[in-house]
Order: sequence, then structure tokens, then C-alpha cells
Amino acid sequence: MLEYLLQSGPATWRTLSEESPLKDLCDPSTVFRLLVKLEEIGLIRRITIREKPPFFSIALPGEHHNDYVVCTECASIQDIHILCPGTRLERQLEEELGFRQLRHEFAFYGVCKECLPKSSGA
Ligand SMILES: [Zn+2]
Ligand SMILES: [Zn+2]
Repeated sequence: MLEYLLQSGPATWRTLSEESPLKDLCDPSTVFRLLVKLEEIGLIRRITIREKPPFFSIALPGEHHNDYVVCTECASIQDIHILCPGTRLERQLEEELGFRQLRHEFAFYGVCKECLPKSSGA
């Protein structure tokens, strides 16, 4: 599960239970219980977009899988692979405040290019 999430980026419970390798190993309710467990121990995170089904994403300190951009129209979600200022800010907080094991997440919300024509026009 974690490996799959690492590669796929954020995924819904449905995707995880129907498309990931887990579908051959356990039934959807087992996948769901596993997700809840992993969320409890802080290995994954739930991303909720309005009334849409939540996405689950990996949450590892020091690893960069926490930045994403979300389309508010179709609820698609994409990892961002840009040079992230978050890492530099973390170093700064470590120095100034003495924090350790910092992690961050950025969520950007907008309308994706597939949805743009729909929402901007008649
Ligand atoms: Zn969209
Ligand atoms: Zn970042």
C-alpha cells in the first residue's frame, strides 16, 4: 500500500481497492481499515475536497510527497514536483526555533485545464 501510494501519489480508497495490487490481496473493507490504521499512526494523510471522496497520501517526514494541486471542479489531484521553498523554510525553522523532524504540505486549489472551458464559459 505505502509503496503504491509513493508511486501513484494521492489516491482514493476506491482507486486503492480497485486498481492497486491490493485488489488481489484483500477486499475493499480491509483496504479501508488499513487506511484508517495507517492514518492513525501518521504514515498517511487524508485530503478532503468538499464533498468528494477523500484522497489518501503518504506522509513521511523529510520526504517530499506533501505538495499537491487540487482541481475544485473535478477533484483531480496531482503531486507537485517543483523546487519547493518548504525545505528551505524547514531548515530556517530548525535554526531559529530548534524544531526537528519538520514536515510541510502545500495544497494549491484551482481549476485544472480540462475543467477550464466548462467553468469560464456559458
Ligand atoms: Zn478539473
Ligand atoms: Zn514541499
